[in-house]
Amino acid sequence: MRAAILTRARRIEVRDVPPPEPEPGQVRLRVRYCGLCGSDRLLYTTGALAGPATVLGHEISAVVDGDPDGRFAPGDRVVPYPAVGCGSCLWCRDGEPSLCLSPPRRRWAGGLAELVCYPATNLIPIPDDVDDRSAALAEPLGVAVRAVEESGAEPGELAYVGGLGSIGLLVAAVLAHRGCRVIGGDPKAERRRLGAELGCELVLDPTREDPAEAAFRLDPRGARRVFECAGVPASLQQVFEVCGPRGTVGVCVVQTGPVLLLRMTVREQRAFSISGPSIGSMRRALELLRARAEVARVITDVVPLERAGEALEGLAGGHGGIKVLVAPGG
Ligand SMILES: [Zn+2]
Ligand SMILES: [Zn+2]
Repeated sequence: MRAAILTRARRIEVRDVPPPEPEPGQVRLRVRYCGLCGSDRLLYTTGALAGPATVLGHEISAVVDGDPDGRFAPGDRVVPYPAVGCGSCLWCRDGEPSLCLSPPRRRWAGGLAELVCYPATNLIPIPDDVDDRSAALAEPLGVAVRAVEESGAEPGELAYVGGLGSIGLLVAAVLAHRGCRVIGGDPKAERRRLGAELGCELVLDPTREDPAEAAFRLDPRGARRVFECAGVPASLQQVFEVCGPRGTVGVCVVQTGPVLLLRMTVREQRAFSISGPSIGSMRRALELLRARAEVARVITDVVPLERAGEALEGLAGGHGGIKVLVAPGG
């Protein structure tokens, strides 16, 4: 099969490699689409985990190629829940494989390849009325669904989303679907426009207009639920200003900068972070895609496997679109 291999930092090579053979309990999938994510971009630019068998990509929609145990038929449409644990540690026994103490080394495990193997228990069927392209959003939308659920957001509450990249836009869409009032902040006009289309009541450029002022104008208590989705230190600092007393801050993307917690302590805010979906939140994400097909507007480009490296380079440079999908089958 063909696979896009991260050989070193900022270097992707598309090569012919042996097709992966399913281990006991696994199903082999033919990848239809694989979304590129902020964490892929970070692994691409840093070269962390790079090597001769490193294949990125965990936002996969696929059809079943073969299930040795016969639970799935060839051609069944599925999305895999990405976390695979050892199955026996205390976290895995609790149904939390993303926190596994000794995650197995999986060969050719990413979606930037024609074929990939996953345990049958990780596979979620795609509803008939959700197309393969949109279904590739099940993982990042599952992150957004889980973030909003964890925040405890209630209908009618004021929420602020800092950063309208793919995760921020998806969080805004989930909040709007839940009946929250949403302010979205992003310096890029194109992203603000999409934010408004997906249900933000107000969008602004947080580098020019103070989102805290806007929030306290709309609700004297400030934003009740605030989501940091930009991954830049200035935005991480700002979300604690926007969040009102006893409000909740959700950190939804990887952060590498420091933050002062003065506002958090004075206003008695609560904070939490999200680093992935749950299998349940991915199922609910697929249901949400049926109800709100317009969410697929976050997909700005679809490229063949040969252009995966170019697409990651574009995302690393900050001009690569919002959600880019790779189609390994062409
Ligand atoms: Zn992702
Ligand atoms: Zn484990």
